[in-house]
Amino acid sequence: MDAVLLRIDNASRRAGRPVPARLLAVGKTRSAAELGALAAAGQRAFGENYVQEAAGKIEALAGLGLEWHLIGHLQSNKARLAATLFDWVQTVDRPKLVDALAAHRPAARGPLNVLVQVNIDDESSKHGCQPAEVPALVAAIRAAPMLRLRGLMAIPAPHAEPSRRRDAFARMRRLFDTVAGQDPAIDTLSMGMSDDLELAIAEGATLVRVGTALFGPRPAPRPSS
Ligand SMILES: *Cc1c(COP(=O)(O)O)cnc(C)c1O
Repeated sequence: MDAVLLRIDNASRRAGRPVPARLLAVGKTRSAAELGALAAAGQRAFGENYVQEAAGKIEALAGLGLEWHLIGHLQSNKARLAATLFDWVQTVDRPKLVDALAAHRPAARGPLNVLVQVNIDDESSKHGCQPAEVPALVAAIRAAPMLRLRGLMAIPAPHAEPSRRRDAFARMRRLFDTVAGQDPAIDTLSMGMSDDLELAIAEGATLVRVGTALFGPRPAPRPSS
C-alpha cells in the first residue's frame, strides 16, 4: 500500500494539488481478511463491484469505521440492498436508479453519497450515462433528500495510447468543472486505476480506484452477478 500511496502523493504534487487524491482500495475477488489487513494499515475507503459479494465483507469488517463504495453496475432490483449497505454509490447512471436509491435509503443511515457515472468514451456496450444526460441526472439527485451528490465517475476505454486515455480524463474534468461550479459539496472526480492513476490525477482525479497495484493480479474473472 505504501508504494501506491507514494505514487498518488507524487502525482498529486506534480499536479500542484494542495491535498493528494484519495485512494479507494478495490477489493473484488479479495477476502475480508485481505481487506482487513489494509484497514489495519490505515486504509479507510474500500470499493466493491458486486452487491452480494460486498455484503459479507461489510458485515465481517463492521465496526472498523470503514467507508464502502459501490463501483460496479447496479441493477434496480438490488438498489434496496445497495442503499442499505453502502456509504457511496459511484455508478448512478439513470433516473430509475436515482428514484430507487432515494426510496430505499434508510433514514437512520443519513444521506447516501452518489456519483454520476459517465460513459465518456461512448462505448455502446458499457454502462454510464452520456455526457449530455448529466445535467438531468444531477438535477434529479439534488432534488432527492436522501441522496447527496458528490461528483462524477468514469471508466474510460483502456486505450493503449496514453494520449487517448488522457483525452478522456480531460473531457471528464471539463464536465466535472461545469457540475462542481454549482455546488461546493461536489468534490469528487473518481477516475484512474492501477496502470493510469498518474494520468488521471494530472487531469484532475480526486479519487483513484486501485485493485491490482495493491493486491496483485486477480486470480480468475468472477462470473457476473
Ligand atoms: C477492478 C476495478 C478497478 C481497479 O482496477 P485495477 O486495474 O485492478 O486497479 C477500478 N474501477 C473499477 C470500476 C473496477 O471494476
